[in-house]
Amino acid sequence: MKEAVSIERKFVSLNPREARTVAIIFERMFPADENGPGATEIDVVNYVDKALAGPYGEKLEWYRLGLAALERVACQKYGTDFADCAASDQDELLAELEKGQVPDFVTPASVAFFDLLRTHLQEGLFADPVYGGNRNKLGWKILNHPGVWLENSSEENLTSEPVTKGGKIQSLADLDFSPGRPSRNDVRKGYDPQRSVSPPSEIADIVLVGLGAMGGIVAPVFAKAGLKVVAIETGPWRTNSDYLPDELGATYYCRANMGSKFMREIPRWRRNADEPTQEATFSLGRMMNSVGGSVIHYGAWLRRFHPHHFKSRTQIRERWGEILPADCQVTDWPMTYEDIEPYYTLLEQSVGVAGDESNPFIRRSAPLPMPPTRSFRLGEFFKDATRRLGLHPYPVPVGINTTPYQGRPATTYTAWSNGFGSYTGDKWDPSLSSVPEALATGNLELRTHCRVVRILTNGDGRVSGAEYIDPNGTSRVQRGRIVILSAYTFESLRLMFLSGDTRHQSGLGNNSGQLGKSFMTKMFAHVNGYFPDVVFNRHTGPAAQGVVIDDFLSAEFDSMQHGFIGGATFGAEQQFLPIQISREALPSDVRRWGKPYKDHVRNWQHYGVVRIQPDTLSYTSNFLDLDPVYRDKSGLGMPVVRITYDMRENEHKLADWMEAKAEEILREMGAVKTWRGQRFTGVGSSHDLGGARMGNDPSCSVVSPDLEVHDTPGLYVYGGATFPTCPGINPTLTLWAVCYRAADCLVKRLKRGEGA
Ligand SMILES: Cc1cc2nc3c(=O)[nH]c(=O)nc-3n(C[C@H](O)[C@H](O)[C@H](O)COP(=O)(O)OP(=O)(O)OC[C@H]3O[C@@H](n4cnc5c(N)ncnc54)[C@H](O)[C@@H]3O)c2cc1C
Repeated sequence: MKEAVSIERKFVSLNPREARTVAIIFERMFPADENGPGATEIDVVNYVDKALAGPYGEKLEWYRLGLAALERVACQKYGTDFADCAASDQDELLAELEKGQVPDFVTPASVAFFDLLRTHLQEGLFADPVYGGNRNKLGWKILNHPGVWLENSSEENLTSEPVTKGGKIQSLADLDFSPGRPSRNDVRKGYDPQRSVSPPSEIADIVLVGLGAMGGIVAPVFAKAGLKVVAIETGPWRTNSDYLPDELGATYYCRANMGSKFMREIPRWRRNADEPTQEATFSLGRMMNSVGGSVIHYGAWLRRFHPHHFKSRTQIRERWGEILPADCQVTDWPMTYEDIEPYYTLLEQSVGVAGDESNPFIRRSAPLPMPPTRSFRLGEFFKDATRRLGLHPYPVPVGINTTPYQGRPATTYTAWSNGFGSYTGDKWDPSLSSVPEALATGNLELRTHCRVVRILTNGDGRVSGAEYIDPNGTSRVQRGRIVILSAYTFESLRLMFLSGDTRHQSGLGNNSGQLGKSFMTKMFAHVNGYFPDVVFNRHTGPAAQGVVIDDFLSAEFDSMQHGFIGGATFGAEQQFLPIQISREALPSDVRRWGKPYKDHVRNWQHYGVVRIQPDTLSYTSNFLDLDPVYRDKSGLGMPVVRITYDMRENEHKLADWMEAKAEEILREMGAVKTWRGQRFTGVGSSHDLGGARMGNDPSCSVVSPDLEVHDTPGLYVYGGATFPTCPGINPTLTLWAVCYRAADCLVKRLKRGEGA
């Protein structure tokens, strides 16, 4: 009775009985033992109660129904409330819930409820204490993780002893972010947020839809050429206060708060046309909404494609003959590596890429402007082992400052920055220089918090502007001679589908039925290894600190000898934050909850991982269109994108071989045990390519090599949707190069008086 009264006072969303049951469930899933407290003492229930009263409000009903079902079964089976059952009976009930065996609870709902509980448990244990769980940092203490540190030394990167920062565990409340922190606010000269609510300007030369990674890099190309540019961006221009090392709130794999529009329009997904859809799953893939775009929280690996990646079809045919599956749509690019090389070089210098020339498969016409990131322990193990196997490891080139560069500081090697957004500006994004440069010309007008909802055309079928909703909810029209869609793959395509007119009845760019076709995404597989006598200290640096090998996607790799087409990058990287640790793949002999789970996560310092980034072919069966049923949660209720995507036999064979190779590398590194992570990691990978493929022939492509939509003059697509193939290499540097080149060509055309 006493306990019920105190519970009643404390909780705001759960009632006392529910709170008691939830607390007991969490304790069973993460029990107190000889190694430290369990979920009760860590106050996970307090975290969940607060979250259900706030950001997870829509899940409260789910809790109510799930708990009621559990109570019903407890009563039927054991004649008592769940809370009063013996611990072993509680465990049995939870195991049934996990497997979907609770009567009166349809299987998917039961499994999903269990998974939801587990996700919330991990957050309550390991998120910053400011969220109400992780009481007294007990969750981090159990892991022996020092919490939030904004700097690590080269010694800490390489030491064989655990880096504990002298036993001091820091949370957000312990940090003072202001002293010495470069201000992101200073670069916003010429930006007036009020402009967004004023009436649209006269007709613009260029309307940019989205001022993210692609829109942001081309804005100065146009503005400096004297063209009048209006950029319509749905996100804000973020200031220092947005960039917090808060794993739960900020990271793409947790709440992804900086991508609130993206998170309200999650695509639907089905494996094939006969299946009902479900919400899309993600490997990385939660994009951002902000001036500067998703590269604000990206991993910053900036790598070149290899020359042969631009002529995939020819290379396959010449090497192995006509072996492609009948419905495979692999093609050559309408441009070569040599066409792109000058732009790679220009961007590596202007963005600021750190790396060296030790990758034997890539030749640059100019060296990279900064030395590579520092060596780190897992990377050294990976490097030594792959060298012994005759392979060619190299430090991955990254868009992170390893020395001060162009007025921005060198990195401090904090692990609390990739997936977040850099709070110092050591990781470049367009809001740090190219957008300010464009504004400084006086030719860029920036309207933030404005969402484009339709592309407009005139009676000739030519583009004429964009309709958008301003921050007051007013519908506006911005006229433009040229409209460039740079709103990321899903949104650019959604707008094209939604903007049909009498000349484009099934959407702009779709007159030959190609819109949405040839969609490709990556399944980032990985293999973990256990090294009982090695401490890796992966929490002492960002994921930008990485070592990779290109051997298995180089032109020399004969994949058909192993029975598949394509290759993959292998890599070892830093960054292990508390929630990340709790979500890493488990060996099949470790239960996902209870003491075995707790024992496993406590051992995180001894886990190494080899990540795999595969090539992906395109097939007619993998495509994007609009979902006929589901709408976004923006209040406008516009249809979301529907992804029809499955891994095919070739991709499974490739993954099988690559996972086995990763196991071999891990064993060579000294692992005594290895286990594979999930292979189908999610259809949203942030490398979501194709759907508006570029090519010279309008019957089998959507845009020209200059990225203009074949059937809609004046409309351009700047982004991954235009890529004809999907090599196992991070795409952003190539995206930037292709878009920059297209912008250059467009400026030249307009100067010659063509096309406007
Ligand atoms: C977690 C993560 C890690 C990544 N790591 C890497 C990496 O290491 N290396 C690499 O090469 N790539 C990486 N990427 C991919 C990289 O971020 C993308 O390739 C890149 O951001 C794509 O640029 P974009 O301009 O097409 O899209 P974005 O950068 O997402 O920009 C699109 C912009 O459009 C705006 N917008 C959307 N809808 C509308 C609308 N209706 N009206 C107006 N504006 C709109 C958005 O707010 C956004 O600002 C990563 C991505 C993620 C999510």
